[in-house]
Amino acid sequence: EFVNIHEYIERIVKKFSGLANEKNITIHVEVDDDLKQVYLDYDRIEQVLTNLLDNAIRHTEQEKQVFVKVIEEEDVQFSIHDQGIGIADEDLPFVFERFYKADKSRKRSEGGKSGTGLGLAIAKNIVEAHKGSISVHSKQGEGTTFLFKLPNDLES
Ligand code: ATP
Ligand code: MG
Repeated sequence: EFVNIHEYIERIVKKFSGLANEKNITIHVEVDDDLKQVYLDYDRIEQVLTNLLDNAIRHTEQEKQVFVKVIEEEDVQFSIHDQGIGIADEDLPFVFERFYKADKSRKRSEGGKSGTGLGLAIAKNIVEAHKGSISVHSKQGEGTTFLFKLPNDLES
């Protein structure tokens, strides 16, 4: 369906204000001004953004920042960037696999709160089902960026 992308992103980001506040993390949102109505699968794309934001905040230390950006090139491009712990080069090729957890040997800082390792596999499935693509760039100790692209047309 067609959604007002500004309102859509704001609403999803708001779901994380509590979690972000707890860690004093600021979430910056930047949505292309020219971009108004975007055709997307409302619930499924919310699921993708929710997992990426959850991951970003959970793997980011106190006082750091998370950036959510939506721009239109040929496709509509969504990026979620964090200044968190990053992902090791040897783990990067596997993060979209089901049940894969890059930090399984590391002590979790979130009071044992641990996911299933399914979020990114599901995100990739959803994005590809919508004729899009998803990629990750990361540097340990510096941060991580997930980028996904969706065609912005009715046939998608
Ligand atoms: P779930 O999403 O099912 O609750 P999860 O978050 O552990 O569990 P994924 O979302 O699939 O699973 O992420 C897989 C793994 O990739 C994570 O366990 C974590 O090790 C790593 N990872 C994902 N996003 C980030 C990030 N932004 N920064 C650092 N590591 C990340
Ligand atoms: Mg996750």
